[in-house]
Amino acid sequence: TQNGARTYKIASIPGDGIGIEITEQAIKVLRTIEVLFNSFTFDIDTLDWSSKRYLEQGEYIPADGWQRLRKSDAILFGAVGSPAVPDDISLWNLILPLRKKVIHSGLLYQTPLTANQLTQYINLRPIRILPGLSAPLKNCADGDLDWIFVRENSEGEYSGQGGTTHDDTPNTIANEVAVFTSVGIERTMRFAFEVARGRPRKKLTMVTKSNAQRYGMVLWDKIFYEIAKEYPDVETDKMLVDAMTVRMVLKPKTLDTIVTTNLHGDILSDLAAALAGSIGVAASSSLDPTRQNPSLFEPIHGSAPDIAGQGIANPIGTFWSTAEMLRWLGEDAAADLLMTAIQTVTASGIKTRDLGGTNDLIEVTEAVIVELEKSF
Ligand code: ATP
Ligand code: MG
Repeated sequence: TQNGARTYKIASIPGDGIGIEITEQAIKVLRTIEVLFNSFTFDIDTLDWSSKRYLEQGEYIPADGWQRLRKSDAILFGAVGSPAVPDDISLWNLILPLRKKVIHSGLLYQTPLTANQLTQYINLRPIRILPGLSAPLKNCADGDLDWIFVRENSEGEYSGQGGTTHDDTPNTIANEVAVFTSVGIERTMRFAFEVARGRPRKKLTMVTKSNAQRYGMVLWDKIFYEIAKEYPDVETDKMLVDAMTVRMVLKPKTLDTIVTTNLHGDILSDLAAALAGSIGVAASSSLDPTRQNPSLFEPIHGSAPDIAGQGIANPIGTFWSTAEMLRWLGEDAAADLLMTAIQTVTASGIKTRDLGGTNDLIEVTEAVIVELEKSF
């Protein structure tokens, strides 16, 4: 460490399955960048919060876990999910508590404000067809589909409110309550308008289902039009989610920045990632725009138990997420260098099997490291 070097505390949570393999490669990439730039260092705290830990000790996150996380500047996350643990258990015990914190949910559905949650209310997912990758849409190739999804990340359809009655009878009723708050919508909308304003096309599409869902979605529409008045330089349009899936496939080049709810954003961004070539390359950031808490960076794919441990997972989505993390930390030059290296490697034809290539995880990682060193 040279004098005056910045230190970033990174909490690394590899998680389960291929999450473990790909996070290891991301750390190698970070260590390479650290040596090249020699102006900042990474202090990496590796946390074994995983389904393995849950099965052995009954918890994903230890009691002092939140304090440890809060001390970090950013969180690098692999994936969670194991065939031995029901998916809703792993999701609700690890990744969702990290992301959500409903700051105000009205009187009826007050969400307890536990100290255990980070304020990552934005999920940001950039989508682009990386050079050399073949994507399923006709007339779409390198650099096309330059989209960015701003997904509300803390409330809505994934608020966790509801319950069941008449359990264990033939007439069980389950209520899954989507909770939307004007505070939650407004902060998301403002973030999305800023993102759209910062991009060349200055175009924001809002996606809801306000014809069928009459309260929350209508509130989304209303707040969208109110805030749009503050951004006269941003071109806006509104889509229903069903029509949006059609537009993404048939008129993909008409889209730029997209803002949408938790559920719709989850689904549309997976579709978007597939349209860009593979879910193995797509990145996702859960951001706390207030910067009171660390933000979290992860590939959009899951733990992929079908290929775990074989060394064939695609690390590109994790590398892209790592670049997003560097950008959030203010290290734009390092983020740019990494994005360039990733794209040089994909363009050169070095690809894992999910992209139709023959290379393994380590070969792709080494190619990226060689590019970083060459182009620095
Ligand atoms: P989750 O519930 O955690 O989102 P999932 O059930 O949606 O997980 P994934 O784990 O994302 O599923 O895997 C879906 C498919 O994509 C699997 O066949 C998996 O092997 C493949 N896949 C996912 N990520 C990668 C990757 N990085 N490299 C190669 N293949 C991948
Ligand atoms: Mg999934």
